[in-house]
Amino acid sequence: MAKAPDLYGVLGIRRDATEDEIKRAYRKLARELHPDVNRDPGAELRFKEVTAAYETLKDPVRRQQYDLFGVAGGTAPDLFPFGDVGDVFDVFFGGGFGGRRTRSRRRTRTQRGEDLFVPLALTFREAVFGTQKDVAVETLSECERCSGSGCEPGTRPSRCTRCGGSGEIQDVARSIFGTVMTARPCTVCDGTGEEIGAPCRECAGQGRVPRKQRFNVEVPAGVADGMELRVAGGGQDGRSGGMAGDLYVSLQVKPHPVFDRRGQDLVCGLPVSMTQAALGADLDVPTLDGEAERIRLEPGTQSGSVLRIRGRGVPHLGRRGRGDLYVTVTVEIPSSLSSEERALLERMAQLRGEMPKRGESLPARLRKLLEK
Ligand SMILES: [Zn+2]
Ligand SMILES: [Zn+2]
Repeated sequence: MAKAPDLYGVLGIRRDATEDEIKRAYRKLARELHPDVNRDPGAELRFKEVTAAYETLKDPVRRQQYDLFGVAGGTAPDLFPFGDVGDVFDVFFGGGFGGRRTRSRRRTRTQRGEDLFVPLALTFREAVFGTQKDVAVETLSECERCSGSGCEPGTRPSRCTRCGGSGEIQDVARSIFGTVMTARPCTVCDGTGEEIGAPCRECAGQGRVPRKQRFNVEVPAGVADGMELRVAGGGQDGRSGGMAGDLYVSLQVKPHPVFDRRGQDLVCGLPVSMTQAALGADLDVPTLDGEAERIRLEPGTQSGSVLRIRGRGVPHLGRRGRGDLYVTVTVEIPSSLSSEERALLERMAQLRGEMPKRGESLPARLRKLLEK
């Protein structure tokens, strides 16, 4: 199980804080972080964490459970108990900012827009060095005709006839314990208590209309396949003035014919000839930057040796510096020989005592190891 967040730390209070202290700490943070007040993109998530922490700690039973077992039944953002941040806003601000008021159990029509997800294909080079890309998405935008209310201009929503505007339906059941009353959200008005008598002609009362939108997305240098970029507010528009959702751009990086990635390092293979490996050579190695880098191959370099070229790898995401380029040497053995070459190699084999003797199929070195 994932480690539970420190709920006291989230609210900045001590573990023995009184209920009143918890409430005051939360109010203070909620005022600073509420998305209607704080436009910083990180503020909304912080606000949800703070709210989830408060929801657990304000309830003595859940607080004791958390103190004993360290779990609050989920991670903080998932625990967010409200359908819309506007609900909390009402509780603590008395509708002072948005003119909304707390009303029995009626749901507010205001809802945050849904998040959108879109894939974005990048070449290997674009991911390494960064780029700018246009992405097209189909979103739901606020209807201009009705300003998102869903009502035909000049009309207003009326009180729901099914629930009488309370947003909930009461059920009465008789049992041996007596009469039991239960309440469920009204399905006619979706718990809002309001009915749209004359739906807007443009959006059919939905308050939102489909629209194609383009975003110019800045892809930073050093991103990798599978990463997501978030465009704050790039998702569907909210309902009845709710915040827009976010757009998540999922990066799909194509492979490169020469280079591979290992985190922030690049790797590639370098074929060299038998004589280059034995005698040593200065060789030009390709880099992703475009210009070749000259490296020294020491005499006697073995196949599979790895050479490092510093600073020719992938730029670190969001900070200075780059990874390295690792070059793996492959020694290529000639597959056909002229008679002169063959004679030379045989002469060399004789000099090195490497000519196979009759009845001796295993190399001497390997034979010694097997005898041990
Ligand atoms: Zn409309
Ligand atoms: Zn209703």
